[in-house]
Amino acid sequence: MCTICRVSHHRNIKNVKNAFLENKSNIPASISHEDKKILEDYSFKNVIKKPEHIGRIARMILPKSSLWQPGRKIKISFVGGKKKINEKVKAFAKEWLQFANLEFKFITDPEDATIRITFKPSQGSWSAVGTDNLSFGIDEATMNFGWLEHPSTTEAEFRGVVLHEFGHMIGCGHEHESPKNGGVPWLKKNAYDYYMSTQGWNKEEVDEQVFDVYSKNQIIGTTLDKKSIMMYAIPNWITKGDFEVGWNYDLSTSDKTFIKKTYPKT
Ligand SMILES: [Zn+2]
Repeated sequence: MCTICRVSHHRNIKNVKNAFLENKSNIPASISHEDKKILEDYSFKNVIKKPEHIGRIARMILPKSSLWQPGRKIKISFVGGKKKINEKVKAFAKEWLQFANLEFKFITDPEDATIRITFKPSQGSWSAVGTDNLSFGIDEATMNFGWLEHPSTTEAEFRGVVLHEFGHMIGCGHEHESPKNGGVPWLKKNAYDYYMSTQGWNKEEVDEQVFDVYSKNQIIGTTLDKKSIMMYAIPNWITKGDFEVGWNYDLSTSDKTFIKKTYPKT
């Protein structure tokens, strides 16, 4: 399972600022005029006039999206990792670029990169989402692959996890947290048992990684897409009725359509 990394309050506020500076449409036009002024003061002048304004910016976290400006060149660097593995990551990641008007530039110096990829087995696989990557320090990883080097990892799993984490990096959230069609019909008690025992998460982490529902502008497509690369595999016994999702290793049709629309070719 992939976790979107947990963020501190301080970083959350920075995420709002970075999303706004990169692409104005990341902040819904529906926020109040006053909130917009507060955000502009913070983003352009680094000024927060009153302590309560921090809370007001924090409330923009959920409706915000984290999309790059179409055409953005994103610098990426590996921090460690075997050459052969790194080359495979690059090759699979680039599949997104057939549909997204973005550029991935792989460079050697992590300090000059926006995306820093590590391979720590203890951390599982995760990535920061879209412009949230800009809030990380140059000594911090923004993406981690926990099991790519493991001999039991199949080619399909390798490809699936690379596409999934790079999906986060270009701004996609988890499809299982989509509210569309009423979302996944979780049987919550079983789902807590399952994720707590298989992932070692506590209840709060399950809430955060599985049940928290995104705002509608952060997610792919118009209906819940069981084939999305951003969807978790979900066993039948943790849902109501006859709902389950298998492992997805490829971009689905709506993944491709969504990302084409999000990052159009000019
Ligand atoms: Zn994920």
